[in-house]
Amino acid sequence: VGSVLLLNSCETPLGLIDWQRAVSMLVTVDAKGVPIAHLHQADPDRTVRSPSIEVPFPLAIKLARWIYVKHIDGRDRFEGGCATRQGVLARDRHRCVYCGMPAETIDHVLPTSRGGLNTWENLAACCRSCNNRKADRLPEEAGMRLRWHPYRPDLTGYTQRKVRREQQLASA
Ligand SMILES: [Zn+2]
Repeated sequence: VGSVLLLNSCETPLGLIDWQRAVSMLVTVDAKGVPIAHLHQADPDRTVRSPSIEVPFPLAIKLARWIYVKHIDGRDRFEGGCATRQGVLARDRHRCVYCGMPAETIDHVLPTSRGGLNTWENLAACCRSCNNRKADRLPEEAGMRLRWHPYRPDLTGYTQRKVRREQQLASA
């Protein structure tokens, strides 16, 4: 059983790998000499040493390049990673950020037409009527107020809990 969390480049958890594989990914470079993965979280009390390398013991590593993944369970979507429609609705418990009613859509707080991005911080659950009312405007321009500020779910805590849980399973 692996104990190192492998993250996509957008920080979506992809699965667990063993630490030997994680270390070898950290020191592997592609054809252009660029490392294929970066250290995301390390165990401060441990170091991996060999005659040729010395690296912090990895708890989570992140791919340098994004890879397409077909199956990601609802928990992962909720807990972190790429901001998806489902993930944003789950984070906001399917409530509209403007009126608190059940939400079916997501709103770009800063509209895409003004450079708003598909990030956790710029996306919020929204009901159809508020979405139509706000249209391509900022909330203040539409006379609307955010009931909460969209945020990125805490992935660090998730990483630690997931790794700890796997370690407990492995030693049971
Ligand atoms: Zn609404």
